[in-house]
Formats: sequence, structure tokens, C-alpha cells
Amino acid sequence: MRLRNKPGAKETILSYPEYILTDGSDFKGKWQERFSKVQPIHIEVGSGKGQFIVEMAKAHPDINYIGIEMQTNAIISILEKQLIETLPNLQLLLVDGADLTDYFADGEVDQVYLNFSDPWPKTRHEKRRLTFESFLATYEAIAKPKAELHFKTDNQGLFEYSLASVTWYGMTIKKVWLDLHNSNYEGNIMTEYEEKFSSKGQPIYRLEAIFNGKEAV
Ligand code: SAH
Repeated sequence: MRLRNKPGAKETILSYPEYILTDGSDFKGKWQERFSKVQPIHIEVGSGKGQFIVEMAKAHPDINYIGIEMQTNAIISILEKQLIETLPNLQLLLVDGADLTDYFADGEVDQVYLNFSDPWPKTRHEKRRLTFESFLATYEAIAKPKAELHFKTDNQGLFEYSLASVTWYGMTIKKVWLDLHNSNYEGNIMTEYEEKFSSKGQPIYRLEAIFNGKEAV
């Protein structure tokens, strides 16, 4: 199905409240109630059409996943996948990642994924990058102490910026990959953008960083 101009997308979303929310503030602090088992919660901010989060949820039934995306037409593609898979450990949330403290309580999230986030290369758009310090502070506010941020991109500029941003923020960089697909990293699950860019021969960058708490800043 085409992503753009899907008729009735909003109505479709509202028809499946068991899988997707457009305002998760009712579940702030209670996300575990939306899953069949209480287990760690991993979120992805900017899930796009959802290949990563759906395949992760299939591969790791012992983790509860929440795909967060602000574009209706993108998240409905994830919903379509979930309507086929009916994974008990996958939930979707249609909101802006900048507002996550409205939807999650302190320490409710165990891990944060960012994949192929929009690079926003112009300096005046720095605040929109999902690794800008205000976003890092938002993730940290809802994450457990020492939670990890895992980030993949093909964009060298955004990767360099993100390495600097997480370091400046006071996070510990645990590991960096400069060519993920030619490394010994196991269990990689490709996103839609990752398939597209790596098929053109572009290396994929990846980093894992740890939140250290605000006293470290
Ligand atoms: N992760 C997917 C999509 C990458 S495109 C993949 O790798 O294939 C980046 C996605 O992030 C877009 O779908 C865009 O709508 C979403 N996005 C950008 N800023 C966001 C924000 N502040 N909150 C939630 N989603 C955001």
C-alpha cells in the first residue's frame, strides 16, 4: 500500500486502540499494562514504516517495544504490519519525540533506539536533530539510570555531530562502528533506510552510549 494520501488513516488508527495511541498520556507510568508480560521497555523514536521495530519485536519476545513516530502515514504502515503479526510485545505511539516526558514516567524506559534520523544539516536546524541535547535530556528523563542509546545512520555529518553531542552531554560512548555491515556485529536488524542506503554502497555508522545521570554534565 502507498504511504502517502491514504484515505481514512486517522480513522484506521483510532480503530485499533489496543495497538496504537495518539495520546499516550493516559498510560504515563503504566505502559506495562499495555503488554501481555512485564519486561524491559525499549523505544524507537522515528520508526518510519517500522521494519526495525516489528522485526526486533519478533526476534526478542522478552522485550516490550514501543515504536514512536510523528507522521501518520508512516505509523499506519507499522500498524498494517502489526495487524498481520499481532505481536504481544509491540505498541505504537503517534507523537512528537520532543514531548516524551508527557507520555512516559521517570525511569519507565530501559533503552532508546534512533535509526536513520533526519540529518537536518543546516546549523539553524540543529535543535531538530534527534541527538540534540534537548532530545537527549528528554530520553534521559524517561530512561532508567545507565540506560543505553543505540543509534544507526548512513549520514557521516549527523554521526559526527551525534558523537560530539552525546559526549558533551556527559554520556559514555560504549562502542562505535564505522562500517557496521563489514564488522563482527551480530543480530543486526535492518531498517528500510538502512537497506536503501547500504545497497548503494554507503557504510552504516552505529554507536552505543550510556546515560550517566545529570550530575555528570
Ligand atoms: N527509522 C526509519 C525511518 C527513518 S526517517 C528507517 O530507518 O527506515 C526518520 C523518521 O523519523 C521519519 O519517519 C520522521 O517522521 C521521524 N521523525 C523525525 N522527527 C521526529 C520526532 N521529533 N518525533 C517522532 N518521529 C520523528
